[in-house]
Amino acid sequence: MEIFHKPEELKEYSRKMKKAGKTIGLVPTMGALHEGHLTLMRAAREKCDIVIASVFVNPVQFGPNEDFDAYPRRFEEDCKKLETVPVDAVFHPEPKDMYPDGFCTYVNVDGDITKKLCGARRPGHFRGVATVVTKLMNLSRADEAFFGQKDAQQVVVVNRFVSDLNIPVHINMVPIVREPEGLARSSRNAYMSADEKQRALVLSRSLRKAKEAYDNGEHDAEKIKKITREVLDAEPKAKIDYVDLYSFPALEPVDSVDERSILAIAVYIGKTRLIDNVIFGGADK
Ligand code: AMP
Repeated sequence: MEIFHKPEELKEYSRKMKKAGKTIGLVPTMGALHEGHLTLMRAAREKCDIVIASVFVNPVQFGPNEDFDAYPRRFEEDCKKLETVPVDAVFHPEPKDMYPDGFCTYVNVDGDITKKLCGARRPGHFRGVATVVTKLMNLSRADEAFFGQKDAQQVVVVNRFVSDLNIPVHINMVPIVREPEGLARSSRNAYMSADEKQRALVLSRSLRKAKEAYDNGEHDAEKIKKITREVLDAEPKAKIDYVDLYSFPALEPVDSVDERSILAIAVYIGKTRLIDNVIFGGADK
């Protein structure tokens, strides 16, 4: 497995691979890899000749009061996990090489899709994501890029700028990978104590309850949100950031829930902000 730190090294590698006629799959991550990430890697492995993973805690997608400094960094462990897939190359740059002095160009997805859910609560977040993902797509010359449904709004945003900017890459969305009891895997789960992790099961429980109600014939969006909130409110350590229902992938408001609706939640368990979602007709139930 090749390890590159400098953007120029990755650029040269992907140029060579492209010249040799290989298809390239890109899996962008911030590291502290878990089974969710590895599922993305395996999907890329199945579909592409060459798999490039990036491990980069991207400073420009964090707000000033967010967890950039605290975010877990475990590059050596990550490499061991990546070797098991296996991936062909890992890109692990320094912020100063991705954003050198004089850097001043950003990708700003300026439509309604970034003005709700996490976009509304984390100003600048998707601008940071869109900018770094564009850079990674350019450096890797990826034909295919892989993202998790866990960050469903991110998938919508990435599809938007890829289409708007005519970037020649196809976007793949991989279902949410969960722990056996239901908690969506996340690098941020590491912030929680055992007690908090237990309490965090309320997120997936609330979505399951909502899905059950839907399966039993309840399609009223307000009622589905109410059911979700009631489950979350019953957990004293859970503080709701949002419980929202939209069409997917358009992210337009819905009155009546159907199989292409997404119920998305963000909830604080103590200091840890967790997100989760269900697409009613989706693979992840
Ligand atoms: P992150 O390292 O958190 O930025 O995530 C990198 C990629 O992995 C993103 O496309 C995420 O949506 C995806 N991902 C993270 N957690 C999961 C999960 N539990 N299931 C599926 N994909 C995930």
